[in-house]
Amino acid sequence: SDASFDFDVIVIGAGYGGFDAAKHAAEHGLKTAIIESRDMGGTCVNRGCVPSKALLAASGKVRELADDQHLASFGIHAAPVRFERQKIADHANQLVQTIRTNLTKTLERAGVTILRGHGRLEGSQRVGLREPSGVDRVLSARDVIVATGSDPFVPPGIETDGRTVFTSDEAINLEWLPRWIAIVGSGYIGLEFADVYTALGCEVTMIEALDRVMPTFDPDIAKIAGRHLIDGRDIDARSGVLASKVTPGCPVRIDLADFNSRELVETLEVDAVLVATGRVPSSKGLNLESLNIETNRGFVPIDDSMRVLVNGQPVPHLWAVGDVTGKLMLAHTAAAQGTVAVDNILGQNRTIDYRSIPAATFTHPEISSVGLTEAEAKQLAETDGFQLGSVRSYFKANSKALAELESDGLMKLLFNKSSGEVLGAHIYGLHAADLIQEVANAVARRQSVRQLSTEVHTHPTLSEVVEVAYKQAASQLTA
Ligand code: FAD
Repeated sequence: SDASFDFDVIVIGAGYGGFDAAKHAAEHGLKTAIIESRDMGGTCVNRGCVPSKALLAASGKVRELADDQHLASFGIHAAPVRFERQKIADHANQLVQTIRTNLTKTLERAGVTILRGHGRLEGSQRVGLREPSGVDRVLSARDVIVATGSDPFVPPGIETDGRTVFTSDEAINLEWLPRWIAIVGSGYIGLEFADVYTALGCEVTMIEALDRVMPTFDPDIAKIAGRHLIDGRDIDARSGVLASKVTPGCPVRIDLADFNSRELVETLEVDAVLVATGRVPSSKGLNLESLNIETNRGFVPIDDSMRVLVNGQPVPHLWAVGDVTGKLMLAHTAAAQGTVAVDNILGQNRTIDYRSIPAATFTHPEISSVGLTEAEAKQLAETDGFQLGSVRSYFKANSKALAELESDGLMKLLFNKSSGEVLGAHIYGLHAADLIQEVANAVARRQSVRQLSTEVHTHPTLSEVVEVAYKQAASQLTA
């Protein structure tokens, strides 16, 4: 430790990015403090991954038990399903508390000083702290890590009241079940909540501004997943329309306008509206101006080593990780970036290969992806001058999926036809979120399908869907 500073490292924000950074720093002997203005654990633990997956776990069970046709195919006839909304909400809430407590204890055990309040930069190697009591302090640190995360984006024209018109921040509390809910946005958050609401008996209308529903997903995957997750659940999905004005109340009025012309198409009167239109960095109030940091729509610019950039040049001793940097905004990205930043503070020279970071949507069944999209892969093939290979492996050819009567699913694998390198994969189907990890590891190691196709998979498992894709790809190699 350098005694001329209050701390070796101060981390601003205790989400997964900040948590991993602080824990890693303290475990490596650095005198570390973490500043949090809201709840320890940030978005993921309190308002994101954790409670949403608890709700999806419960709604998935309800869905399975309530699907008479599915059960009847096994010759099973269950009594009508009853569920208690409050108990489902309690499960999510208790899980949040457990994980938040564990995480706080972990930091304390590692020797991290937890400071409550709002943090801001006060020039180089200095952090201002406004404590909940209103007292202001300035602390010095050799290195400062910004990990302030993100908040829901609410487009102009939409007014939220937190009860009839709300974002995921409130939806995770499952305070009531609207008879009819409009979900604005068909990204992963909108899809996950549509899964929960339809399982629990709500009628769902989905509004997507872009010209196709699920625009952030591979088009082929979106097509087959959409047939099941949207059409199969009687969700009225509209694309190319904008929720141009939403007024809370009973009912909620929602104006739909044509995305291109902005002309009013229709006004719906629904019981509730969930706004799931993406997230914005929470970098306001950080006083980034004091260091001349120019953000990109609020995102803090960083280089591959997590150093904050000013005019393209790294600022000494200032780092940023997680959603606030806008790179693949997921909990495991934030955590990985946090660890990399600290390793670099410790003198290593580490970067992150964002291409090998997988992403998943926890609908029933799940959707996942890693690496390049088909459009990106085509582009790369063109610039690098190689032939792009693309193969499909279907769950309906998989024994385990057939035994489970869950054979609706597809995996698409993109690869370089001459080197065999895996470039990307997109999966829709049972346990897709677990299946993608195997491919993510292959992308990280830049492995060729030539070798991957020889690796033996357990029979019968869903992992054979991946094995089949590798084998098909290997048979198409040109060299
Ligand atoms: P955050 O978790 O946002 O934490 C930042 C923290 O900084 C917050 O606690 C905030 O209060 C604090 N803070 C901000 N400014 C200051 C300040 N000036 N001073 C002090 N403290 C400050 N990701 C997945 O990987 N898997 C999932 O299944 C998944 N599901 C999700 C579901 C939902 C509904 C949502 C909304 C998100 C989900 N995510 C998921 C995304 C995931 O939650 C985020 O990527 C992750 O939380 C980012 O971590 P972070 O540390 O960058 O920021």
